[in-house]
Amino acid sequence: MNTQLNQGGIYTTFSGESFEVINPATATPFAVLNSSSAAEIDHTVNQAVEAFATWKQVTDTEIYALFSAIAADIRSQKAEIASLITQEQGKPLFLAEVEVELGAGWIEHLRDTEIPVEQYEEANGKVIRIYNKPIGVVASITPWNWPFMIAIWHLFPALKTKNCVINKPSEYTPLSTIKLIEIINHHLPAGVCSIVLGKGDTGAHLTAHPAIGKVAFTGSTRTGQAILKNSVDSLKSVVLELGGNDAAIVLEDADLDYVAEKIFGSAFLNMGQTCTAIKRLYVHEDIYDALVEKLLAMAQAQVIGSGLDSATTFGPVQNAIQYQKVKALIDDAITQGASVLTAKMEVPEHGYFIAPTIIGDLPAGTALIDQEQFGPVLPIIRFNDIQSVIAEANRSEFGLGGSVWSADIAKAEAVAQQLETGTVWINRHAEMSPNAAFCGWKMSGLGHAFGLSGLLQFTKKQAIHINP
Ligand code: NAD
Ligand code: MN
Repeated sequence: MNTQLNQGGIYTTFSGESFEVINPATATPFAVLNSSSAAEIDHTVNQAVEAFATWKQVTDTEIYALFSAIAADIRSQKAEIASLITQEQGKPLFLAEVEVELGAGWIEHLRDTEIPVEQYEEANGKVIRIYNKPIGVVASITPWNWPFMIAIWHLFPALKTKNCVINKPSEYTPLSTIKLIEIINHHLPAGVCSIVLGKGDTGAHLTAHPAIGKVAFTGSTRTGQAILKNSVDSLKSVVLELGGNDAAIVLEDADLDYVAEKIFGSAFLNMGQTCTAIKRLYVHEDIYDALVEKLLAMAQAQVIGSGLDSATTFGPVQNAIQYQKVKALIDDAITQGASVLTAKMEVPEHGYFIAPTIIGDLPAGTALIDQEQFGPVLPIIRFNDIQSVIAEANRSEFGLGGSVWSADIAKAEAVAQQLETGTVWINRHAEMSPNAAFCGWKMSGLGHAFGLSGLLQFTKKQAIHINP
């Protein structure tokens, strides 16, 4: 396949260094793309700057119609998009379809959001109106875990607020994003929403470009720091959604059947490759054995295989580096004296498959507890004292999400208030809402996304003081 984007009229095949897209279920390449050269990135930015002069005048009514049409187009091509996601990312087809649906719904939610104008009347008769104006050209850098949905999380807030936007998808999963940009370009004027391709150097060149006014980044903390450093010279606004090491705390009165299913689902969501997956599970000692037993039964019931096979419930890890990293964390935990509680499961011979793995009896300080594993392995830790487990959960460089599980909502909320994370769920985990500000604390991020205030991060204020 080439990277010819036939709509929008701007993008032709890029001419930079080529790279392969590997299907993680087979560990073999199935597409070859060319990266964008530095000149092509600059050209793309220039086209966006030019397009912005007109796009910033678009009316809210036009945006409403455009977003409706794009969401409908995405839904009508759901099967094709989902198949691309599964081939490049690895997740089972049913989950890829969920990703497409969630993306379309997110666009419709943004479509229905109104951008407010604040107004104040002062005693002397002066009226002040404060407008939210577009920034200009936004760069979006996306990761490989939920490539289609996260691209939507960046592109549509930027477009809704009348910016132009350029995405660089992860080099591991560019195909579903290319498809998304193609669909968008059936509807938007040329240059308003575009793509550049390549690895980290492409992302660095794009985000450092002086004409980029804002960078939306989702990915690792280390890359986020590099982007922030590159923002200094032209004073770019930067929003960073970074890594996490979310703790879930299960109190002794939790309903075990309910909790087991939801916890399994959010620890192993997308084979654990979710920023807000449960990555540390703290369980009260009174129910530890009973909950572990239920989680093991769920792990053991997974059908591991290619996501394209309709029987599959559990796919591969996305790439070889991540596969090695997760394997090493499991091996290290075993070396430290921890026990693998799950029975051995068969996995396909080729591909980056790791069975869902549950690990107990971990000594304090084990890397699997302290670091972000971002894969299908869950450490479970017993506790008996709620204050010390809260301290333990907070003893992390990350502060993305957390959860408390209990039949007593007031008690759960009191624990939630003490967690040092931007999101806390009660009796759920990893559920995103377009209404809720999503904010990584500590090394998990800078700024926030979602909700009206997240949307307004794609704007700059203009206060007009009107004197009669
Ligand atoms: P990554 O940082 O390796 O890559 C993310 C993107 O940045 C890719 O497109 C990559 O090519 C690009 N990139 C790399 N170097 C760059 C540079 N110097 N300048 C600009 N761009 C550069 O992250 P990943 O491995 O793709 O994603 C996994 C990480 O993302 C995990 O830590 C996960 O927790 C995090 N994540 C966070 C959220 C969130 O919302 N907080 C959501 C999903 C994933
Ligand atoms: Mn961890």
